Amino acid sequence: MIPVSQPWLPDREKLNKYIEQIYQSRQLTNNGPLVKQLEHRLTKYLGVKHLILVSNGTLALQIAYKALELTGEVITSPFSFVATTSSLLWQNLTPVFSDIEPHSLNIDPTAIEKKITEKTKAILPVHVFGNPCNVEAITSIANKYNLHVIYDAAHAFDSSYNGQNILNFGSISTLSFHATKLFHSIEGGAIITDSDDVAAKIRLLINFGIQQEGHIRLCGINAKMNEFSAAMGLCVLDDIDLIKSKRLAIFDKYQQQLQGKVRLQRWNLKSAPNGAYAPVILNTESTLTKVKSELAEQGITTRRYFYPSLNQLSFLPDTITCPESEDISRRILCLPIYPELAPHIQDKIISVITKYNARVESNIAGES
Ligand SMILES: *Cc1c(COP(=O)(O)O)cnc(C)c1O
Repeated sequence: MIPVSQPWLPDREKLNKYIEQIYQSRQLTNNGPLVKQLEHRLTKYLGVKHLILVSNGTLALQIAYKALELTGEVITSPFSFVATTSSLLWQNLTPVFSDIEPHSLNIDPTAIEKKITEKTKAILPVHVFGNPCNVEAITSIANKYNLHVIYDAAHAFDSSYNGQNILNFGSISTLSFHATKLFHSIEGGAIITDSDDVAAKIRLLINFGIQQEGHIRLCGINAKMNEFSAAMGLCVLDDIDLIKSKRLAIFDKYQQQLQGKVRLQRWNLKSAPNGAYAPVILNTESTLTKVKSELAEQGITTRRYFYPSLNQLSFLPDTITCPESEDISRRILCLPIYPELAPHIQDKIISVITKYNARVESNIAGES
């Protein structure tokens, strides 16, 4: 089967050299030399102030909430991977879903204000598929009500915004370095902040809250990245320009050949796509079912990212409706995109979509 995403494997010889270093140092984890090296390189590459590596992107979110001492309600997007919501629930926080813009697929800033109560402590938007949120509008609401903003930037590795990195917005941004993401360290993630105090606290939290031997200052957890993951990350980072350019070539071909045939995510004008995902919004859910099964018959995997809309998860304490997110969730499909995707496979995918969804039909509210 053709997968929807395929992890990048760097040069084996290069990876072996790092593994040799691990054998020499015998330090496998606990802020080892390769983790320090990767932190340093990523901080520079992304142009951020503090970047703390962690073991995955879900713990990155949970630690972000803990570091900011959040309690009560957090306003978040219903259109995301389940970890955005489940991480809140694990920290005993209440997710309050605020609907999305059907074009950008990001949280709609004009809907947020109505969701604010005296229990609201933060806003948790997602840069969906790497597309930057309307950060100015979100910042001004947050400032007006004195709320923290945490961006789930799991898809937004290296997304630019107005000439700087999107990770520079909000109190904290989090990244995932899972094997299927644009940049990966097998499993891994990072927490980004401008605040010296928050960064210092995060460093304690990821290591059980231990300040030094015999002095445990905070109730922490174990979220440390190990040296083997850092070794993979260092190798993948060397290849990141190549990975991006290959992905963008595939992304651009989808855009060009599917334009007008299927609805595509509208990208923030102050940014450029990063090639992380290739979503298409079909006219109806039944069209989606046909496209998905015909592609499966041809040996091609697609993924229903994101379905269901997170406000419809069965284990939530109460029900909120988010019509835009529910509608998009039912008919959005992510297509294969990864550096080695063969051109003839991409042609097949494009022709199956064109067969069932020859033009954009269904209306999205607010469409001009
Ligand atoms: C992948 C992902 C996460 C979780 O990251 P892991 O590293 O897999 O734990 C969180 N949020 C979003 C939006 C993601 O896509």
